[in-house]
Amino acid sequence: ADGDTVPALVIGSGYGGAVAALRLAQAGVDVAIVEMGMSWDAPGPDGRVFCPVLKPDGRSYWLRERTDQPVGYFMGGSYNKDIDRYTGVLDSEDFGGIRVYQGRGVGGGSLVNGGMAVTPKRENFAAILPSVNAEEMYSTYYPRANTALGVNHIDKTWFESAECYQFARVGRKHAERSGFGWTFVPNVYDFEYMKKEQAGTATRSALAGEVIYGNNYGKRSLDRTYLGAAAATGKVRISPLHKVTTVTPGAGGYRVEMAQLDSSGKTVAVKNVTAQRVFFAAGSVGTSKLLVAMRATGKLPDLPGAVGQKWGNNGNVMVGRANHMWDGTGSLQSSMPCLGIDNWADPGGPAFAEVAPFPAGLETYVSLYLAITKNPNRAAFSFDSGTGKVNLNWQKSWNQSSINAAKRIFDKINAKEGTIYRTDLFGVTKTWGDDFTYHPLGGCVLNEATDNYGRLHGYPGLYVIDGALIPGNTSVNPFVTITALAERNIERIIADDL
Ligand code: FAD
Repeated sequence: ADGDTVPALVIGSGYGGAVAALRLAQAGVDVAIVEMGMSWDAPGPDGRVFCPVLKPDGRSYWLRERTDQPVGYFMGGSYNKDIDRYTGVLDSEDFGGIRVYQGRGVGGGSLVNGGMAVTPKRENFAAILPSVNAEEMYSTYYPRANTALGVNHIDKTWFESAECYQFARVGRKHAERSGFGWTFVPNVYDFEYMKKEQAGTATRSALAGEVIYGNNYGKRSLDRTYLGAAAATGKVRISPLHKVTTVTPGAGGYRVEMAQLDSSGKTVAVKNVTAQRVFFAAGSVGTSKLLVAMRATGKLPDLPGAVGQKWGNNGNVMVGRANHMWDGTGSLQSSMPCLGIDNWADPGGPAFAEVAPFPAGLETYVSLYLAITKNPNRAAFSFDSGTGKVNLNWQKSWNQSSINAAKRIFDKINAKEGTIYRTDLFGVTKTWGDDFTYHPLGGCVLNEATDNYGRLHGYPGLYVIDGALIPGNTSVNPFVTITALAERNIERIIADDL
């Protein structure tokens, strides 16, 4: 409430925020979580929490009048739809050179993501974050994160015959026939629940295509794991539909100003809270935007120049291939990916490509992929005093490097299979999904913008604990690494700072 004083305030309830809240609460600290999105726990008028995939309504997008689907086209037309403006669960934030998809709500990205829970190869992690003791990460913090997130593995026998993974088996076969390595990928979606969906004994969620607008069943999102455990301590209070706008030093700690929003995004109240410690966990983009704005407007003028730098898109690029009629990918597809093609060791263009579902409810013969590549480009955030907004200078042309790396896999597969790229999925005629990312990373890089545990230089009691710490790439899907790094950092912060 307005005028309160709290020992610890966490901005955002995604992976970093959820870890911070749980571990602080277990250490006896009272925590206030401030989350701009909604709490997705109450059914709408149709009896569901999240909207149907093929009939999206306001619940699908954060304050938009029209959907903005990542794969937004099919056979010559856009299949976006008009929707009511509402504080929906998926945000497509447009920075000109790139659209950044992010989850909005209690649970952050865990509400909308594909659940792929990938621990990177140790040598790749060590190259990305050389200041972090990799031995500790792999012996302690990655296992801790995987356990707390509820990561589980697909039953390999079931996989071989499950109708809903025909698309993945076809993707694997094509990878193998062209000599590429592949690997099963663990997930936080409950595979036992999915088996029941396939058997017809449980309400379908992954098998109903649910993912980017939220899963009504089956997904172990953060509200059911870390945040559920945090709430059970009795020491954590979450304020949904509250957006932090300002953080500045004040008497007794930091003064945090926030806007309370209604479900149309309008500010209905402005509140001020004093916090002894503030944890920035608003996501790579949210944290970077806040800190860059605070530095530019004199609220936190001593933040270092490294704040706002080294932002990357995890080398994301999407592409579809058109299969032959005898290589159908199935009319029933699980929305949870379960395997990836590993070409990271290729010095000519490292890539890890997830074999992605394209659940259209009919046979499309499409093989879809989300490639994570080692794109070397990094963008910076800057404050525009004219508009009061924070810009990100990512250039669309910078994604050519990602396309080149992805082509090293898919040109070869196309040549071997005698197939071609789909050109109708990302525009009327556009082969590459190269203008958006699911994996924003960086902006407040560990050991540069912060110390080696996320403490912001110049401001004791301010911490960064989310994807902003990771310098633009994780070599695989990022949330397990974000979670494990947060586990490492919060343990040290609790031991040394409290
Ligand atoms: P987030 O999870 O983004 O959490 C930040 C939270 O802060 C959000 O809830 C946001 O609403 C809130 N916030 C922001 N600004 C403010 C503010 N000013 N005040 C209050 N609250 C604020 N990763 C994987 O590893 N595997 C996958 O399969 C995968 N699939 C994905 C699919 C999609 C469609 C998307 C969008 C992402 C996917 N990701 C996946 C990426 C993953 O979800 C993110 O990397 C992860 O959520 C980032 O965690 P975070 O803690 O940094 O921030």
